[in-house]
Amino acid sequence: MMPNVLKSSTRFEADPQTVFNTFEQADRDELQFIGFFHSHPAPASPSAVDLKYMRLWGEAVWLILSSIDGTIAAFQMINGDKHEVTLKVEAV
Ligand SMILES: [Zn+2]
Repeated sequence: MMPNVLKSSTRFEADPQTVFNTFEQADRDELQFIGFFHSHPAPASPSAVDLKYMRLWGEAVWLILSSIDGTIAAFQMINGDKHEVTLKVEAV
């Protein structure tokens, strides 16, 4: 879990060094980055801020949980357009 440096319940910002360290550790563990998970005290859809950062992170999947109703949804920005995607999780 990534700490929120803003200490806010409505806005989130990660420490860049923590993000870098997380990617370095994932690389050492031979894990593949596929996207981000976070929750909203709102519906499970990207906020305006999410959309801004989705455009910067290529085709990363943004998995969003609504803390209001427990729904979860995933989105991807493809060629500048937001698409809802389906994730299939399997135990191996
Ligand atoms: Zn969000």
